[in-house]
Amino acid sequence: MSLSRETGEMSETLKRNRYLEDADRRYIWHPFTQMKEWQQEPPVIISEGKGSFLKDIYGRWYIDGVSSLWVNVHGHRKREIDEAIKAQLDRIAHCTLLGLANVPSIELAEKLVSITPDRLTRVFYSDNGSTSVEVALKMAFQYWRHTGVEGRNAFVCLNNAYHGDTIGAVSVGGIDIFHEAFRPLLFKTYRVPSPYCYRCELGQSYPECGLGCLEALEEVLKRHSSEIAALIIEPMVQGAGGMIVFPPGYLKGVRELTSRYEVLMIADEVAVGFGRTGKMFACEHEEVVPDFLCLSKGITGGYLPLAATITTDEVYGAFLGEFKELKTFFHGHSYTGNPLACAAALASLELFEKEKTLEQVKSKAEILRRWLLEIKELEHVGDARGIGLIGGVELVKDKSTKEPYPFEEKIGYQVCFRARDKGLLIRPLGNVIVIMPPLAISEDNLRDMLQIIRESIEEVTLNR
Ligand code: PMP
Repeated sequence: MSLSRETGEMSETLKRNRYLEDADRRYIWHPFTQMKEWQQEPPVIISEGKGSFLKDIYGRWYIDGVSSLWVNVHGHRKREIDEAIKAQLDRIAHCTLLGLANVPSIELAEKLVSITPDRLTRVFYSDNGSTSVEVALKMAFQYWRHTGVEGRNAFVCLNNAYHGDTIGAVSVGGIDIFHEAFRPLLFKTYRVPSPYCYRCELGQSYPECGLGCLEALEEVLKRHSSEIAALIIEPMVQGAGGMIVFPPGYLKGVRELTSRYEVLMIADEVAVGFGRTGKMFACEHEEVVPDFLCLSKGITGGYLPLAATITTDEVYGAFLGEFKELKTFFHGHSYTGNPLACAAALASLELFEKEKTLEQVKSKAEILRRWLLEIKELEHVGDARGIGLIGGVELVKDKSTKEPYPFEEKIGYQVCFRARDKGLLIRPLGNVIVIMPPLAISEDNLRDMLQIIRESIEEVTLNR
């Protein structure tokens, strides 16, 4: 954007852009953002998207390397989803599910039940990942009350877990920098080791360890199962904890132990569901069937807020009774089962079938897998891990000792800012560079993205 040659005055577009930048800084409090820093440079303001790309108000295009925070699946402005939403708009945008039903939410529930594991039969809608988790926690807790079992007031969760930002979800969170400040407000949990092989909490190494982290879990269940309502876990990958990919057998082992000790299992697939790991749901990697499946993010293809908590006949049945028995699940949100969002979700699921999205992911996952192996060779890459189209590159100050870069050095951000200058938008998780493109990204764009990340890591860590 340039000054007008004739008058030297700012063009209308430039004026508008400056106004937006100023108004953003003046009025908006951004999530997970130190606003003091945010004020110091102009924000990237997105005005348009197409496919795997985003355009800012100055007309610069970027690859959307985080899928707009892990939500986008088929790309932006995908014709089929756009049309489904427009068609639904011509019917109705919203009506409540409290005391009423609506057409797209019924059709979507049937579809979700048909694609999730067999025992999962009942869909409870909400509108974001955190609420899908709150619903599962409350249902699990109340299930035991309704079945006459007292004292199951605690939950088991993992170190490095992230399940959202509402207080229940924070209670079962295991990332101290996000969660510790709220400890006095949180309910009781038993935290068990994270299956984070690169930095094993038990000082062991896989596979010789024989999954010692499962033994630690068994210890807790053996001692405390009569106090525990449920265990909650992000299947196969702990996302916000740093894209920690589970060693084979861990997830299956968790299901076996929870079944053995009669503890309900909540699978939070908010981040990993809908194809990200190469399978529709991450639980499928180890043929695990949880008692609750929490879904959100990719459910609408990344278009609109929607979430679903899907559970079994057994749990649902425990809530049936006479009105006066108060077995009703007293929980619901204003936008629960929003018809526009459900229409988008139905269109997205149709695309999975029509475009064979999971089939298409295979070759791209292979490109990522090979790239992760290569990037591991760099001097400041401690670990590079991935599954499907999810990748994480953990940067370290000293590879031989695994010494991390100090938090305040913001090495992850430095790499991401460098990548932004090269036309790629990504967000780090501490010292981990996250790779999470839309499933529909082309192979060429994926290669471009990975090349930019490699260059940015090299430039920042080798101070070039
Ligand atoms: N669970 C997991 C595993 C997540 O990764 C997230 C968000 N990143 C959430 C829950 C919370 O979802 P939301 O931000 O939509 O509340």
